[in-house]
Amino acid sequence: MTATTDNRTFDSLDPATGEVVGTHPIHDAAAVRAAVAASAPAAEWWAGLGFAGRKERLLDYKAVVTRDIRRLAATVRAETGKPEGDALLEIVLAITHIDWAARHARRVLGPRRVSSGMLGLNLAATLEYPPLGTVGVIGPWNYPVFTPMGSLAYAMAAGNAVVFKPSELTPGVGVLLAELFKESVPEQPVFQVVTGLGETGAALAADPGIGKIAFTGSTATAKRVMAACAQNLTPIVAECGGKDALIVDADADVAAAADAALWGAMSNAGQTCVGVERVYVVDAVYEPFMRELTSRAEKVKAGEQYGPVTMPSQIDVIRRHVEAAVERGRAVVGGKESVRPPFVDPVIVEDVPEDSPAVREETFGPAITVRRVADAEEALKAANASAYGLGGTVFSRDRRRAMDLARRMRTGMTAVNSVISFAGVPALPFGGVGDSGFGRIHGADGLREFARPKAISRQRFPLPGMNITSFGRGQAELERLVRLVTVLHGRRR
Ligand code: NDP
Repeated sequence: MTATTDNRTFDSLDPATGEVVGTHPIHDAAAVRAAVAASAPAAEWWAGLGFAGRKERLLDYKAVVTRDIRRLAATVRAETGKPEGDALLEIVLAITHIDWAARHARRVLGPRRVSSGMLGLNLAATLEYPPLGTVGVIGPWNYPVFTPMGSLAYAMAAGNAVVFKPSELTPGVGVLLAELFKESVPEQPVFQVVTGLGETGAALAADPGIGKIAFTGSTATAKRVMAACAQNLTPIVAECGGKDALIVDADADVAAAADAALWGAMSNAGQTCVGVERVYVVDAVYEPFMRELTSRAEKVKAGEQYGPVTMPSQIDVIRRHVEAAVERGRAVVGGKESVRPPFVDPVIVEDVPEDSPAVREETFGPAITVRRVADAEEALKAANASAYGLGGTVFSRDRRRAMDLARRMRTGMTAVNSVISFAGVPALPFGGVGDSGFGRIHGADGLREFARPKAISRQRFPLPGMNITSFGRGQAELERLVRLVTVLHGRRR
């Protein structure tokens, strides 16, 4: 890690107890600049290892993380308050992503020949995806391993060095991830961490040595980060918040849908960007669904199945949404009294008007709204009437119907008859539309996000009588070209 220039520090706390679990330097702009400068030769060295060399190192890193999974989970637990099981689950998912990125980088990004077309018969066309240099990764606290790893592993597999700024709530997790990386790659600072508050992230975004910023966090902060990146025309991938809907169609397995809705909404205290926040249930199955949902929800308690709200200021947002929801809707599980900081017990409110902040804004807590709709079309319309468009869920036994609804959902990802399942499939790209951001992590698109397409056209032999990119070109060559293009492209239906 880079030293700070003024030795300021901040504490990381256990959100359940307020106990200090770590003290970390506040890296200022000069320290961030030094880290980015140090990463330039590291990036060159790392890129020089080639796909095979990087794959070997990344698979070793994967093994190191796997072997130290308990220590990493303990750090996640200490800084976020989530139960050990949930910490282990997010690390397991992160491990599968390191593995996928390492194994697929060459196939996705390596040089390949593409067709040069009829007019370019004498050319050899090559496409490849070299790295960008140094990628700055700014991450949130809710899944402090899984979420940034979607950028870190893919950026490094693509051949970039990374400078990671973890959330100020989970700096210890970021530091440990980088420390473990050093066991696999001790030679160069390919994976560095800078810790601190928002200003440290701002300095990273504004650094001219950064090839791309991978930002995960709120929509409001993404706009600030983009503004900082604009100074240097630094591109950005923005993974922001969501207001994901779950649709229960008339033919759904109601018990499975209720189980998924509850877990998708309440696990991790609802602090999941792709968590379920709105549920739309078709009239025909509304009562049985609600019976299944409420009976299950009554057995779930904060502090038992899930932990505290990690970020203290989020409590105010959750309280405001719950108050607004119960004022105009009907609480069926919990209510205002469920908010008992730092914990929030499950809250389920039905019949909340669609213009309520509880339906429109990201709650990021264990509170959901449920609405009865005439049919799946009405559900889809309501689901799509959101500024956000991250993920979503459809429950229906009719595969065609479910797939059709999933396709028409205005989101980057949709799970069918399961919840959040797309996040665990490394080959599937992850990201949203609208206020949920743009660009993708995970999968082939996630690898390409951290590389630049490089096109090379090599002339293999001159085309006799067709030297069209020359001042020596004559009228006869032009006529031949027009005849050729008419043969190739001139036929109408
Ligand atoms: P924030 O937007 O508050 O913070 C995200 C990161 O940005 C943190 O590391 C933060 O640092 C940093 N930051 C804050 N201000 C600046 C700035 N001006 N310039 C650069 N960086 C800055 O989000 P949260 O940490 O509260 O995360 C929750 C949000 O993340 C939710 O909206 C959630 O939906 C979204 N999210 C999206 C995911 C996705 O993949 N689409 C996945 C997970 C979460 P610091 O913490 O030190 O202030």
